[in-house]
Amino acid sequence: MTYRGRFAPSPTGPLHFGSLVSALASWLDARAHRGAWLVRVEDIDGPRTVPGAAEEILSTLEHFGMHADEPPVWQSDRIARYQEALEQLKTAGLVYPCGCTRKEIADSLLHAHARNTTLAYPGTCRNGLHGKPARAWRLRVPDGDAAVITFEDRWQGKQTQNLATEVGDFVLRRADDQWAYQLAVVVDDADAGITHIVRGADLMDSTARQIYLQRCLGVPTPEYLHVPVVTNDEGEKLSKQNGATALDNDKPFEALSAAARHLGLGLDGTAHTTLEGFYAAATAAWAQRTGVRV
Ligand code: GLU
Repeated sequence: MTYRGRFAPSPTGPLHFGSLVSALASWLDARAHRGAWLVRVEDIDGPRTVPGAAEEILSTLEHFGMHADEPPVWQSDRIARYQEALEQLKTAGLVYPCGCTRKEIADSLLHAHARNTTLAYPGTCRNGLHGKPARAWRLRVPDGDAAVITFEDRWQGKQTQNLATEVGDFVLRRADDQWAYQLAVVVDDADAGITHIVRGADLMDSTARQIYLQRCLGVPTPEYLHVPVVTNDEGEKLSKQNGATALDNDKPFEALSAAARHLGLGLDGTAHTTLEGFYAAATAAWAQRTGVRV
């Protein structure tokens, strides 16, 4: 197996400590496996993308000594591939147009909640739009046992999600004409030949959907490892919206040491004077922590 990993930042602001932890974990895992490490800029969420943020992120990664093995991929260059994947799913009869507004879905979920059933999309448009205009495209999830997706997370252990009761038919093409993260990430990882995905545990909840989508598209399922997310004092995931500050490009050691500590690597990063020295020690600690045989 030729290991291929990746870091896939959304350019909603500069790299901050929370995203550095994901970058470092994916970088160390690739090094521990002597594999390739790629970067993908997830810049297709128009409303959230901040001009210039992608360039800032790429520059910080360079300053921190994390050099990608191939030129970065930009999701905005790959729209034609998302359209092809959607066409493939349409031909296979696996997707359907949905005309529900947010309010209609919220209302039906409220009723479902009152009846003590689940909060998954109730499948209103499964059998037709009932005269409503099409707004989004949804992937039909299976019923019964087939809806249960199980995978072994290399950090968090066995994970199970029932797509029918916990998620429902999910959106691939949004009502605002944007491609959904779930579709783009699966198509991109498959086209890039990614074998190992290492990212924050906030994305754990999306993984079963992505595995199901891989099966629908006939592409391989990579290995997964989700690292604990960094939270602020209120226990919320650290993000640009709740006070995460940009990293200082000229002071990599402090931030990298703190990121290694967050990953439980038990090494004193500030004792190193070169990034190569730090990464060699951190890679060995990562391999031991995650059971990679080197
Ligand atoms: N772009 C996503 C984020 O920044 C990460 C996607 C992924 O790693 O699958 O949260």
